[in-house]
Amino acid sequence: MVQTPEQPSTPTIPGLRKTLAGIDKKYTEVHAFWLAGMSCDGCTIGVSGATKPSVEALLTGSLPGLPKIILHHPVLAVEAGHDFTHWFYKAWKGELDAPYVLILEGSVPDESLNTNNGGYFSGLGAETKDGSHDPWAEQPVPVATWISRLAPGAAASIAVGTCATWGGIPSAFGNPTGAMGLMDFLGKDYRGVLGLPVINIPGCSPLGDNITETIAVVLMFLQGLGPLPEFDELGRPAWLFRETVHRGCTRAGYYEEGTFAREYGDRECLVEVGCWGPIVQCNIVSRGAINSVGGCMKAGGICIGCTMPGFPDKFSPFYKEPPGAKFSGAISRMNGTMVSTLRRLSQRQANLTERWKKTGVPSGWGEVSSMSPLDKVYSFFYEKMQFWGGTKPGSGR
Ligand code: SF4
Ligand code: SF4
Repeated sequence: MVQTPEQPSTPTIPGLRKTLAGIDKKYTEVHAFWLAGMSCDGCTIGVSGATKPSVEALLTGSLPGLPKIILHHPVLAVEAGHDFTHWFYKAWKGELDAPYVLILEGSVPDESLNTNNGGYFSGLGAETKDGSHDPWAEQPVPVATWISRLAPGAAASIAVGTCATWGGIPSAFGNPTGAMGLMDFLGKDYRGVLGLPVINIPGCSPLGDNITETIAVVLMFLQGLGPLPEFDELGRPAWLFRETVHRGCTRAGYYEEGTFAREYGDRECLVEVGCWGPIVQCNIVSRGAINSVGGCMKAGGICIGCTMPGFPDKFSPFYKEPPGAKFSGAISRMNGTMVSTLRRLSQRQANLTERWKKTGVPSGWGEVSSMSPLDKVYSFFYEKMQFWGGTKPGSGR
C-alpha cells in the first residue's frame, strides 16, 4: 500500500545494518558516482543551488563528523575520458579504499530495445568488448550497464529527480525508450551494502536542499552518528515529502476562504487555473526553491505534480482545473464566503483604536469611513463574546 501523508512512516527493512558492513570505523572520505540516464541535467542544476547544506560543504568535508565526498560527475568533473571513468572501474572492481554511493539523475532506458540495432540510448565512457585498449574498437557503455555494475557494491543508491525515481517525462505515454525509474530497474529485492532499498528524491527538478540534506543524513547513518532517517513506503525522505504542498502554501488561506484566482498574476489560490497542490507531496513552498527563497506558488505558478509517480500523464493537461477541485472548490467557496465576510468585519474592528472609534481615523493616506450602525452592533456583540467570563481592559476602573 502506498504511504499516505497522514500515516506514520517507518517501514521495516529486513537486513538493515547499523553501520556500513559492520566495520567499526569512521570514514574520512566517501566517493559519490553520479550517473545521468535519460536526463536534461536539470537535477545537476538543482543540486548546485543547494545551500542547506551546500554542495561545497559536502565536497570539502566541512560538516562536523561527515566524511568528505569525492564526487565523480560527468558534467562537473575536470577530468575527461579514461581519466574520469577509471574511478568507475575501480569501484566496480572493489578497488576503492573508501565506500561509495551511487546517485542517478534521469531515467533508465530499456537498452534491450537496442539489441538488434547496435545503438544505445544513454551512455558513459567507452570500452572494448575484450578489455583491450584499442580506441577504434571502443563502444559507448550504456548507463544501465554502469548501474548494474555499481549498484550492488554501493553503500546506498539514490535516485534524484522524478525521471530517476519514477520514470518522469521520458516514461510518459508512448515511452519509446522503455524509460523507467531506478527502483523499477533494480527491482524490489535490491539492497545496497547498508541494506537500504533505493532512496528516492523526486522533483522536476528536485530541490537542491532536499538532495544534499538526504545525502548528509545517509552519510551520518553510514558513520554511525545518527539513526536511519525516516523514509516512506516509496523510499522518499518522509520528513521532506509527508506533507502536501497545499498545506504549506502561502495561498492556502485564500483557498480556505473560498477566494480563487481568475488568471495568472492574481494573488489568490490558483486551484481553478490548474493547481494540483492539495494532493501533491512536495515541500518547495515551505522550504523555498533556493536559499529559502521562491517556490512555485510564491512565484505565481501552479503545481503540476512534478514530484509524483503519476507525473506527467496523471496531471495533464496542465493549466486545466483538476476534476476534484470542482467539488472541493465549491464547498470551500460556500463555507469561505460566510467565514471571510465575518472575518472582514472583525478585521475592520482590529484596524481601529479605541480613540478612533470616537474621533474617526486621522490618516492622511486614505479615507477610512466611520463606523456604520451595523459595525457598531457587530462590535457590541463581538466584544461581549470576546470578554465573556473575563475582563475587558479598562472596564475595572
Ligand atoms: S495555489 Fe495550489 S497549493 Fe496553493 S492553496 Fe491554492 S490549491 Fe493549494
Ligand atoms: S509545487 Fe508542484 S510543480 Fe512545484 S515543485 Fe512541487 S510538485 Fe513540482
